[in-house]
Amino acid sequence: MSILVVGSIALDTVETPFAGADEVLGGAASYFSTAASLYNQVNLVAVIGSDFPQEHLDFWHSRPVNLAGLQNQDGKTFRWVARYHMDMNSRDTLDTQLGVYAGFHPVIPAEYRRSPLLFLANIQPELQLEVLEQVDKPRLTVLDTMELWIMTARPQLTEVIKRVDMLLMSEEEVRQYTNQASIVRGVRQLLNMGLKFVVVKQGSYGALLFGADGTYFSAPSHPLEEVVDPTGAGDAFAGGLLGYLSTVDPGPDGCYSIDDLKRGVVHGNILGSFVCEDFSIDRLRTLTLDDIAERYRAIVACSHFDPNWWPIKVSN
Ligand code: AMP
Repeated sequence: MSILVVGSIALDTVETPFAGADEVLGGAASYFSTAASLYNQVNLVAVIGSDFPQEHLDFWHSRPVNLAGLQNQDGKTFRWVARYHMDMNSRDTLDTQLGVYAGFHPVIPAEYRRSPLLFLANIQPELQLEVLEQVDKPRLTVLDTMELWIMTARPQLTEVIKRVDMLLMSEEEVRQYTNQASIVRGVRQLLNMGLKFVVVKQGSYGALLFGADGTYFSAPSHPLEEVVDPTGAGDAFAGGLLGYLSTVDPGPDGCYSIDDLKRGVVHGNILGSFVCEDFSIDRLRTLTLDDIAERYRAIVACSHFDPNWWPIKVSN
């Protein structure tokens, strides 16, 4: 079952308090495709400029990543420069150069249009709307966004939210969009817009899954001793979630079971944690399904607790 993704491909320059990387492969679609292609075929739609290094394309050719929807335009590839704070959960964007993204319009090749899973990775919401116009009712549509679009393209973002099944947002983004201090209240507001699910990403603390049907699930994170670079953790999270879902069958009603969605969120946390272990997509280059299975078991072991407990009345 293939997964369609539309998003950014970038050359990132990243500085942490401990190290840095210059013009390395980045962008939401790059992280997503690399993570999700560990599970299944990814149909990628994005744009690169004439300066984009061939080695990155060669890498995706070595994985089940379909590049038929990748536009190669004259001009510069998108560039992004950021600096992380000491806690590595927060960062400042120092520069964004849209380059070829300034004139980009996604074109979904005919062979991609029936992909059952769609991930609208981080790009301008109006481009995400253009994608929704071109696809044939995917089984599950998942949306990601960022503070920039909440602040500068709110009406368009609202339109996209109303048309997808699942929204991924960080805690901070839920507060910014809903203007609610309480995450639970903010999520209820989002669900009232017609979403079936909202996943709240909590950085190094894991993720929460909320369903319009009342589902609530808290997925623990893997405790990483050293975070080298958290860039792309959200996109790799989405890659793990949709990658896992692409390997299971939905029920006769076409919906995924809540157990599968919970497993998917755990896969998201796992891929998000691996990507932080190195700069760019580098840790994902050598990652295997066995590595993922090992971390899955570790997360189950560290979060399982005995459900048997009864209050005992203390008599005096
Ligand atoms: P994350 O750490 O999951 O938020 O994703 C970071 C990635 O998003 C980086 O690799 C950036 O290249 C990419 N990115 C940053 N700003 C934008 C933007 N305005 N539009 C699309 N992608 C962006």
